[in-house]
Amino acid sequence: MRKCIKCGEKAQVYLPQHRLSLCKQHYLEWFDNRVEKTIKEFKMFTRKDKVLVAVSGGKDSLSLWKSLINLGYDADGFYINLGIGEYSQKSYELAKSFSEKVGKTLHVVSLYKEMVPIPEMRKYDSRPACSVCGTVKRYYMNKFAKENGYKIIATGHNLDDEAAVLFSNTLNWSVEYLKRQYPVLPEEDGFIRKVKPLCKISEKESAMYAVLSGIDYIEEECPFSEGATSIDYKMFLAQLEEKSPGTKLRFYSEFLRKMYPILKQSEEKPKLQPCKICGEPSTNEICAVCNLKMKISQKEAKA
Ligand code: SF4
Ligand code: ZN
Ligand code: ZN
Repeated sequence: MRKCIKCGEKAQVYLPQHRLSLCKQHYLEWFDNRVEKTIKEFKMFTRKDKVLVAVSGGKDSLSLWKSLINLGYDADGFYINLGIGEYSQKSYELAKSFSEKVGKTLHVVSLYKEMVPIPEMRKYDSRPACSVCGTVKRYYMNKFAKENGYKIIATGHNLDDEAAVLFSNTLNWSVEYLKRQYPVLPEEDGFIRKVKPLCKISEKESAMYAVLSGIDYIEEECPFSEGATSIDYKMFLAQLEEKSPGTKLRFYSEFLRKMYPILKQSEEKPKLQPCKICGEPSTNEICAVCNLKMKISQKEAKA
């Protein structure tokens, strides 16, 4: 029987990459400390800042929100109803009941009201659902945060997500993406600062935190995530991790430490301008979301 290295009680969690056995209480503490350390390491925000947590109803975003509350940060939730059938309905209910349990505000924006649900977007945009969804989520999160006095947007991207993106960008030598792969995107050109406080926490660790904290989260994946290449990369990295614990963390952390500073020196930022319709930052005169909205209203007018 493994024993908690902190108190000697029966361990409930073993973290091979850190060679740590911990009981429930000390695991929850370890997780919160790791989040705090990451926030400090990358100077993400302080206790004076109003933080908006992008909540999907999944384990990562809810664990992040819970941890920030435990650590005494001023963190509210933000949920976008994407209108993806049962998945959206269930994830909303779980996010809502979590916010009630912790006594924090959950702000909600609905695509039914703002535009059209994601499954209908393909009528107006030929890109894959996830590309459109990413654009729309980024847009509403940024707009909402600015209009409501939030200085920071925190997302639940974990180490597995970051390592898989890094792996994909490295395989393809997507230098422009690699230059921007950092857990803090600064406030600039109309964008609010975006941070990823779970970037050094694995998917398993965040799931264990959710379970041991009694968080009810949605276990199903979004139906559009099926077949995504990132899943293959995650599986491949998981195999490496199994053979050699710590590989993922080393791959990601060492990129940030050794490679990112070199790449960043030659970063060329895209030229942005305020969208002529909504004022949000855009590479064109009219932003992608306003463009989509125009297509939707034209089609509706014809119908
Ligand atoms: Fe949106 Fe794709 Fe994520 Fe589903 S899997 S929530 S469509 S980005
Ligand atoms: Zn213990
Ligand atoms: Zn616009």
